[in-house]
Amino acid sequence: MQTWCIGTVTITKIVELEVTGGTRFILPHATPELCRTLSWMRPHFMDDDGRLKMSVHALLVETPSRRIIVDTCLGNDKQGRSVPGWNNLQGPFLQDLATAGFARESIDTVICTHLHVDHVGWNTMLRNGRWVPTFPNARHLMGRTEFEYWRDQEEFREQVTVFADSVQPIVEAGLSDLVATDHRVCDEVSLVPTLGHTPGHVSVRVTSRGKEALITGDFLHHPCQMARPEWAAVVDYDKDESTRTRRDVFARLAGSETLLIGTHFAGPTAGRVVRDGDAYQLVA
Ligand SMILES: [Zn+2]
Repeated sequence: MQTWCIGTVTITKIVELEVTGGTRFILPHATPELCRTLSWMRPHFMDDDGRLKMSVHALLVETPSRRIIVDTCLGNDKQGRSVPGWNNLQGPFLQDLATAGFARESIDTVICTHLHVDHVGWNTMLRNGRWVPTFPNARHLMGRTEFEYWRDQEEFREQVTVFADSVQPIVEAGLSDLVATDHRVCDEVSLVPTLGHTPGHVSVRVTSRGKEALITGDFLHHPCQMARPEWAAVVDYDKDESTRTRRDVFARLAGSETLLIGTHFAGPTAGRVVRDGDAYQLVA
């Protein structure tokens, strides 16, 4: 189990899935040939053949007053997902959470960086044929812009399904709070707009006793995008804006002590941003 301490705050990673290769559907520019030239990504973020390693995990943020889960992965029993391996999962995620000390009833806050399929799945679980909240004692913070965009969406069939099985039941249970993209959650935790991947995408900033961490969400998916910020993800809603966001955030963090914790980064998952020519590296 991986944990990081940011002053009085502890952040714990709970993995749902890890993959090596098969990532071209999300990052088509990141060919093995080009990635192999980025030797700093070995061995944590790619294998010797230049195949990218990625992870789907949740980050548990414990402050003196709150127990927060940031992004809830894919979930079990879900259907209608476009990635075949994401349908009807039967993984041990909830047991792993409980074993790590995070019984689902003990979570008081769920933060969704955005409302894509792999960030809202465990908002709900299947009980007696119905989707019910997994974290019944938690307020679920979702960006208002993000929520309204997906609520009104009719074109992307997968996301219509995701909204119906993983977002709408939370609203109906009265557990959702629609918030601004710069919402302050508590003394140590606040949202930061990192737009472009989706219309209301946010990252999560943690600060305590002079220490700082930034949980990415999907403004980048893989550290290779630090070397090539213009490598937008296929699913980026506005690729120019997501590229601008990556450049802005990396420029701000470069050389600082801020820990960048990647929502899909494999292995060590976190590191510091350092300048490398006119781009950047992640130093784990
Ligand atoms: Zn994602």
